[in-house]
Amino acid sequence: MHELSLCERLLDLLQEESRRHAFHRVTRIRLAVGRFACVDPDALRFAFDVVRRDTLAEGAAVDIDQPPGLVWCEDCAREREVPTRIAPCPACGSLRLTPRGGDDLTLVELEVA
Ligand SMILES: [Zn+2]
Repeated sequence: MHELSLCERLLDLLQEESRRHAFHRVTRIRLAVGRFACVDPDALRFAFDVVRRDTLAEGAAVDIDQPPGLVWCEDCAREREVPTRIAPCPACGSLRLTPRGGDDLTLVELEVA
């Protein structure tokens, strides 16, 4: 399961941060999951609930943002936002698009105690 390995990486990251900044408890985390990441936010939440049991992130509130995917449109010669990887350019309908990010999971904000 894709989401599970993402959550394990996220937990590693949180543990690293807790060592570096000397905190013991995470109270809130805000994540951004790109629209191209093929991650279902509900599945991600579920996987995170499993992975974080008995860890510093147990009980933390989790917010998940889904920023739009960015593509470069060859025909407009401009960067455009699209809702999915297979969507055409919203301005000219072109399919000659090159993805520019939007395919990763980022930790945006962390509240700790
Ligand atoms: Zn275009």
